[in-house]
Amino acid sequence: MNIELVTIGTELLLGFTVDTNGAEIARALGVVGVRIVRRTSVPDDGGAIRDAVTAALARTGAVLTTGGLGPTRDDISKKVLADLYDAPLEFDETIWASLLDRFRRLNRAPVASNRSQAEVPRGATVLPNRWGTAPGLWLEGAPGLVIMLPGVPVEMRMLLEHEVVPRLLERAAGAGVIRSRTVRTTAVPESTLAERLGDIDDRIAPLSLAYLPGLDGVDLRVTAWNLVPEDADARLAAAAAALRERAGAHAYAEGDTTLAEVVLAEARRRQLTIAAAESCTGGLFGARLTDVPGSSDVFLGGVVTYADAAKSELAGVAPALIAEHGAVSEPVARAMAVGVAQRLGADLAVGITGIAGPSGGSAEKPVGTVWLAVYDRGETVARRVQLFNTRAEIRARAVQTTLFRLWQRIIGGA
Ligand code: AMP
Ligand code: MG
Repeated sequence: MNIELVTIGTELLLGFTVDTNGAEIARALGVVGVRIVRRTSVPDDGGAIRDAVTAALARTGAVLTTGGLGPTRDDISKKVLADLYDAPLEFDETIWASLLDRFRRLNRAPVASNRSQAEVPRGATVLPNRWGTAPGLWLEGAPGLVIMLPGVPVEMRMLLEHEVVPRLLERAAGAGVIRSRTVRTTAVPESTLAERLGDIDDRIAPLSLAYLPGLDGVDLRVTAWNLVPEDADARLAAAAAALRERAGAHAYAEGDTTLAEVVLAEARRRQLTIAAAESCTGGLFGARLTDVPGSSDVFLGGVVTYADAAKSELAGVAPALIAEHGAVSEPVARAMAVGVAQRLGADLAVGITGIAGPSGGSAEKPVGTVWLAVYDRGETVARRVQLFNTRAEIRARAVQTTLFRLWQRIIGGA
């Protein structure tokens, strides 16, 4: 079943409220096989609401709206849709009684405008709202199906789960589910990855593949549309395996698992400990590892050696080395890793030194130049990476790349 979403509220268009309802509804309906084919946001404006819903009904025949069901003057969705369906608003004594009951429990008195919340377009099914004052409405008629939910996220969520999904499931009985699975990759540009994956789209059909680039790398999400659950799961598993195989060493996990979790798990399995000496990342590497509960058995700690003197005092980098090669250099990155490993007695250690910008770059070492070293029980490897864009992005990617190199070292890939 296909449905369109119209989220209503001037605050959405001003950008003060992020349309989380839209994303949440799409996820919740996808699970039960209802596909959101278009999403529109409109202000609390009668003409705009009417236009958006009319166009959506003409295309798809089924629309879900959120917002504009409150008691205030800007909440006009119900009136507009009642007009569209030629269904006059009628006062519903049952809703009014439950509203009064709710106000009594909250020790509040209803005001005149609350009466409007008990008005229902003739012929509409009321979706009782035990979590707020505005009930949802299910309206079917010549123009098609319109489901109206309140905009307040918690009320929307509860009504969706308890009133809307069961009704849609009943209607779509026999149709399949929409399910996704995500393979996470890192340290490979999107275009290079696409090249490596080759004709994968044909191989995994009828599943679809989306490339989702972010700071941690490129996530590959495969989606099964309208298949019976067992078939969807089997195809998703095969597709994920194919993606992992073609992405090779760059594929580090599935779902929400982070590279830090993977690094910790692999080090733990081998009973290895980790330390860090960080310059341009200022402790972000340690933060990523310690974000994971239980990391203390693997991660011993680290030093943030930002100034040259700190590199010498806290990580034992010889001042002459810094004077000769500069703080952002291979020898200094190596010495940082070795120094912190020795001081903390760690099996593994990283050294990260780079130019995060926006200033401080040169022709030879432009902004985004990062040297990262991985020490592993007496042996050290180092590499230079060139990162781009903002300071925040350069720092985040420097950490992710270091995690990747460390992981590769641990599992024997580098
Ligand atoms: P309403 O039902 O229009 O009175 O909405 C009440 C409140 O819910 C608004 O003030 C917003 O903060 C929030 N809200 C409305 N629409 C959305 C949406 N699409 N996503 C997230 N929050 C929303
Ligand atoms: Mg509103």
